[in-house]
Amino acid sequence: MPPDIHRPALLREHNFIAQQWRVAASGRVYTVSDPATGLDFAEVPDSGADDARAAVDAAHAAFPGWRARTARERAQFLKRWHALIIAHQEELGRLISREQGKPQHEGRGEVLYAASYVEWFAEEATRTYGDLIPEPVRGKKLMVVKEPVGVVAAITPWNFPAAMIARKIAPALAAGCTVVAKPAEDTPLTSLALVRLAEEAGIPHGVLNIVTASRANAPAVVDVWLADPRVRKITFTGSTAVGKHLARESAGTLKKLSLELGGNAPFIVFDDADLDAAVEGLMASKFRNGGQTCVCPNRVYVQDGVHDAFVGKLVARVAALRVGPASEPDSQIGPMINARAIEKIERHVADAVANGARVVTGGTRLRDSQRDGPHYYAPTVLVGAQAAMECSCEETFGPVVPVTRFHDEADVVREANATPFGLASYFYSRDIARVWRVADQLECGIVGINEGALAAESAPFGGVKESGYGREGSRYGLDDYMHTKYLCQGQL
Ligand code: NAP
Repeated sequence: MPPDIHRPALLREHNFIAQQWRVAASGRVYTVSDPATGLDFAEVPDSGADDARAAVDAAHAAFPGWRARTARERAQFLKRWHALIIAHQEELGRLISREQGKPQHEGRGEVLYAASYVEWFAEEATRTYGDLIPEPVRGKKLMVVKEPVGVVAAITPWNFPAAMIARKIAPALAAGCTVVAKPAEDTPLTSLALVRLAEEAGIPHGVLNIVTASRANAPAVVDVWLADPRVRKITFTGSTAVGKHLARESAGTLKKLSLELGGNAPFIVFDDADLDAAVEGLMASKFRNGGQTCVCPNRVYVQDGVHDAFVGKLVARVAALRVGPASEPDSQIGPMINARAIEKIERHVADAVANGARVVTGGTRLRDSQRDGPHYYAPTVLVGAQAAMECSCEETFGPVVPVTRFHDEADVVREANATPFGLASYFYSRDIARVWRVADQLECGIVGINEGALAAESAPFGGVKESGYGREGSRYGLDDYMHTKYLCQGQL
């Protein structure tokens, strides 16, 4: 059953290496399945070490030519790619929904979000300014220039198959780097379609290369890149466990690293909050992509005075969410990505209930004639969540809201920070002094203050602590792909 895309040329089932669409050197393939039904619908290469090495050979050979182009030439390529992505919003959106499961409007929205990074970095490419430093002694000039780091390896997760890879490839190419990329096992097709559009936009030979692999073979591909001294940077979005592995294994060749890792976002509602706005913000931030985003609120703290009113409003909204496949246009929550994901959600809810939390709505898998796949979970609200529960300690990555009642501001800030992670935090308050105090104290890379929708291509996205380091997007995003070189000229 082919995916529902109008332009078959966008459905690519091969690696792209040295400007050629190729099968894996071994000839092996793996199947891509539709999370809405669990049925297979495409086959892509199950690549190994040979394919990974061939991709680096191509990217390494292409680097001198690509870096020698002017920033304006690189920007023009990115602008053509951006225009093609926008022109194929419908097809790409459908492909995202098909392989990832998110509702159609979210699939289309993700295409625009991905494209916004390509446009942003097309513009930033021409602004990689250096510096002239006032000379400390006469007869010298001190200058700073920015240089591309070299070959970049990009490794991405399944939850935003277009956006995660676009916001790595675009800054890398803008900076003058060449790229080898590996998308997640579950969602290779959107990435391959984006690369197909890059080819159409005129990307030069070897500058952009992509290989797909099954979960079993991901280490075989990535280990080659970790060990190869020609790969000068790894940019990774995914789990903290894999991020730490990459940091350890890239130490041998001291690569530059950007790690966008897991989160455990707190969402705090103070007594003085606008409750309707807080419910709205929580719905937007929690249920996007069915709760499968790294900045999803994972722990919701509500102050005594508004706890019951807030939970009442929240439950009314959550219970009304429409769960279903992306093929139903009014679906708001799609299937979870795979069996492991839904098992983790079930484990977290069972643990919470066993330790005293109460399910107010949801709390079960869904399966009926409308939702005939195995991966649907009911949007869920739990009250009485506590710090030691599994749902408070690790990302649930699903449509589950565990609510904890609190009394004191200092206590809730301490509890919000009592996690190894530090990606996003949210809080709602109308007290201006509290707003500054709490924003200052939260240990994270991103703070939503009376706001649930945070991401923008012009803003720096990234975490602290075990949520990683490096920033994507914004004027800071290009620095991660460049070196700072100091030139000192004497005898003047
Ligand atoms: P993951 O298991 O870490 O996978 C991410 C990528 O790494 C995939 O391409 C995966 O390939 C690959 N990989 C897995 N094991 C590997 C290994 N041993 N060596 C080399 N590569 C390996 O993460 P995920 O479950 O797909 O994604 C969810 C996680 O990503 C969550 O923790 C979420 O918070 C985080 N995330 C963070 C951000 C952010 O910006 N901070 C954004 C989105 C998601 P396979 O798919 O083949 O396993």
